[in-house]
Amino acid sequence: MSAQILDGKAIAADLREHIKRRVDELRAAGQRPPGLIVVLVGDDAASQVYVRNKQKACEHVGFHSELLRLPAATSQDELLALIDDLNLREDVDGILVQLPLPRHIDEDAVTERILPTKDVDGFHPYNIGRLVLRRPILRPCTPKGVMTMLTQTGIDLVGKDAVIIGQSNIVGRPMFLELLMARCTVTVCHSKTRDLADKLRGADIIVAAVGVPRFVKAEWVKPGAIVIDVGINRLDDGSLCGDVDTAAVTAVASWITPVPGGVGPMTVATLLENTLLAAELHAASDD
Ligand code: NAP
Repeated sequence: MSAQILDGKAIAADLREHIKRRVDELRAAGQRPPGLIVVLVGDDAASQVYVRNKQKACEHVGFHSELLRLPAATSQDELLALIDDLNLREDVDGILVQLPLPRHIDEDAVTERILPTKDVDGFHPYNIGRLVLRRPILRPCTPKGVMTMLTQTGIDLVGKDAVIIGQSNIVGRPMFLELLMARCTVTVCHSKTRDLADKLRGADIIVAAVGVPRFVKAEWVKPGAIVIDVGINRLDDGSLCGDVDTAAVTAVASWITPVPGGVGPMTVATLLENTLLAAELHAASDD
């Protein structure tokens, strides 16, 4: 068997076109375009690439977007005051503070300061709580993007056994909630999980969010499984690779996401989707 490629780049392009058409409709109806503010504190190299991609994506679909660059020495109070201002601005539908933040800033305090209705990352406890209760509004982008990709396989997810490797607040945990909401039976593994390989061998769906290059081996994968590789790891030669041994796993899986060009573009496209949703909800609440 050779796995079919779940082409995140192509699915994300379709999603962007759909969003662009919706923005055109809003403009034609005399409404302002959705507005996203991205805040970058410091000069982390990977973060610079991520915010540039988000900016480009915003421009492509016709959003109003601003990138606010703050020095690494910005105090937590200064950042919180900026968020307070952005929370009040009527032309701002989404606020994204790029993580990680410098060590002297408490990321939880920053996440919780953003109005839940402008929390397009979906990380605020209010939005996570709504996802727990199966009444989501703004959902964390990476897991939601993975669900969009899974839908594209056309495979019925109901009753499938899913195993997630990684339990972070931004990927593993919300991924668990998304797959559970889709009626999968979900196991979440982490660094203290015993017999990880055995758990993976029973999985119809594997989501790898570990941060270890080529961690998932072909012999751990059940023939025909769907394998979603969330990992983005930079190797010594400058190239990118995921958390799955893609070349070997491709011979066993039914579907696999490439890195790059898999989950990464979907995360950005889903951020646009969330920002559009936030804008539509803001417009509706003004009516
Ligand atoms: P993280 O916060 O570092 O979490 C990594 C998780 O992997 C932790 O739960 C950890 O367990 C678990 N883990 C580490 N070593 C393990 C092992 N040997 N066996 C089993 N579990 C192990 O990472 P993250 O933020 O979720 O990101 C994960 C990866 O996804 C990274 O490569 C990141 O760059 C990438 N990422 C990609 C996107 C995208 O858009 N494509 C978005 C976000 C993240 P413990 O909890 O026990 O420590």
